[in-house]
Amino acid sequence: MAKKNEKGRYDNGPCPFCGRAIISLDHITKLSDGTEVCRDCVSKIRVMYPLVYGKKKGKKKTERMDPIEKLSKEEFRAAMEKAPEYLEDLRAKYGRNAVYAVEDIKMIPRGWFRPPYICTTGRVIFGYFDIGDEVEVVRRGFSAKAKIHDIERENAGEKGSDAWIRRGEGGYPLKWMVFSQKDLLIGPGDLIVKG
Ligand SMILES: [Zn+2]
Repeated sequence: MAKKNEKGRYDNGPCPFCGRAIISLDHITKLSDGTEVCRDCVSKIRVMYPLVYGKKKGKKKTERMDPIEKLSKEEFRAAMEKAPEYLEDLRAKYGRNAVYAVEDIKMIPRGWFRPPYICTTGRVIFGYFDIGDEVEVVRRGFSAKAKIHDIERENAGEKGSDAWIRRGEGGYPLKWMVFSQKDLLIGPGDLIVKG
């Protein structure tokens, strides 16, 4: 249970996996038995358990649906041991350091002679993407160079977050990854890759 410490902040005690303090300003991930886990440990296995936002049956509001919250302590520990190998397998499969899958796009015109904003939504399969990164857009038998103009993580208005909102990180959905350059074509199903 969270108690206020002498500084007036909530102290959630140490993470059972790494011993670091769990900070109450973040979104706190709770396992199936109520065990609280720190954001660093969550981010280590996130790639194996992608975060999803969706609507539950009969509900209108978009909610966070986190498969990690269904894990037991033992399953979480096993996932932490397996995560490095899992990530290596993904790197080998794609031959890249980071992969983002585009699910949808929206074009926003910017007026005469200025390339439109190409706003993609999708999910980062693994690795990291930052604003300004040089990447490649990959489609069957074709690839083009591109530069990331902007990133925002999907967080559906959450109060804290367990990942940095302006970075694309493996296992997290993005509200947008934006590009803006002449003659660039991006469509649903394309992969944005790095490294
Ligand atoms: Zn931890």
